[in-house]
Amino acid sequence: MADNKRDYYEVLGVSRDASNEEIKKAYRKLAIKYHPDKNPGDKAAEEKFKEAAEAYDVLSDAEKRSKYDRFGHSMGQAGFGGAGGFGGGGFGGFGGGMSMEDIFAHFGDIFGGHFSGAAGGQPRKPTRKGTDLRITVKVSLKDVMNGVDKKLKIPRLVACEHCHGTGAKDGTALKTCPTCNGTGTVSHVVNGFFGPEEHRSVCPTCQGNGKIISETCSYCNGTGVVKKDEIIEFHIPAGVEDGMVLTMRSKGNAARNGGVNGDLLVVIQEEKNDELIRDGNDLIYNLMLDFPTAALGGTSEIPTVEGRARLKIAAGTQPGKVLRLRGKGLPKMNSSVKGDLLVNVMVYVPESLTAAEQSAIESLKDQPNITPTESTSKRIFSRLRHIFNKESKGE
Ligand SMILES: [Zn+2]
Ligand SMILES: [Zn+2]
Repeated sequence: MADNKRDYYEVLGVSRDASNEEIKKAYRKLAIKYHPDKNPGDKAAEEKFKEAAEAYDVLSDAEKRSKYDRFGHSMGQAGFGGAGGFGGGGFGGFGGGMSMEDIFAHFGDIFGGHFSGAAGGQPRKPTRKGTDLRITVKVSLKDVMNGVDKKLKIPRLVACEHCHGTGAKDGTALKTCPTCNGTGTVSHVVNGFFGPEEHRSVCPTCQGNGKIISETCSYCNGTGVVKKDEIIEFHIPAGVEDGMVLTMRSKGNAARNGGVNGDLLVVIQEEKNDELIRDGNDLIYNLMLDFPTAALGGTSEIPTVEGRARLKIAAGTQPGKVLRLRGKGLPKMNSSVKGDLLVNVMVYVPESLTAAEQSAIESLKDQPNITPTESTSKRIFSRLRHIFNKESKGE
């Protein structure tokens, strides 16, 4: 799906450095053009409307936009479909089937509440959305390698069970709204996109419910929500990076009056590894080799994410050599691509010596193969320069 998706900037018809105001304007224009009230039953228009909403969702949010600029649609294919079910996969659960109602709940404000009436449709009762929760989850390199299921106790607002989230005593202490006489809508003149006209909009007193509370619920003080510790399970996919935010749809705070839940935003914090350095999907290990092993060859034990491994060292291994272990790095999110483990070889030169060690090394000094010739040096340096230029294809 990611591959045939249109570029978000292209969808909105704005440049890549468009300001927030330009993005909002462009979206507004498209939303009006393809609004379902203006195109009843037109599937193509509905798709365009959704496409524009998705593009706007990402580009109007600085964090999502910068990620999109860096990763493109592949970020949207996060596939958070694990135990907890990150909604839909993608930015805030878009793409996987956000309904029109969801879009209105999400972006209702851009129409200023006037749109529906101006276009001749019935005013929509606004969907309340609970607030988002934000938590930080620590992951190890092993978690990044394999993905991990998390089970956490999170205090969140849930619908009050005594009043079923209505805020009214027993859920029944409601009376007809005096402003709208229970219709949920009021009639008035407003400056819409199509000039001033009289139309109906959602009743401000009852927010379209037609009823207001006559006696508040004492358990939640009429708020309709109470705080409760809840166990939330979710899956963190392999390949996540420090600072990434995963959106778990509808796992945030409850809204009053049957509204939709907010989202749970999971911020990834990567634990530092003592031995392995992460560089994107690659891992780097600095190996300090003793001189005899570098000269004679042998094996050396190195750490990998999955445990220790034995690495063969060729005789005559030079300091500065990079040994590349293909596919031993970290996976790219939602892809079968894996990074490499790069072993950076250094050779230890003893810092202090016993008398015996000193005489042993002194006896080496005049041996024919100990001192490099000019051509040997040239050959080795050229190879190292090759590595430093990052053009190495691995050796
Ligand atoms: Zn209550
Ligand atoms: Zn009312």
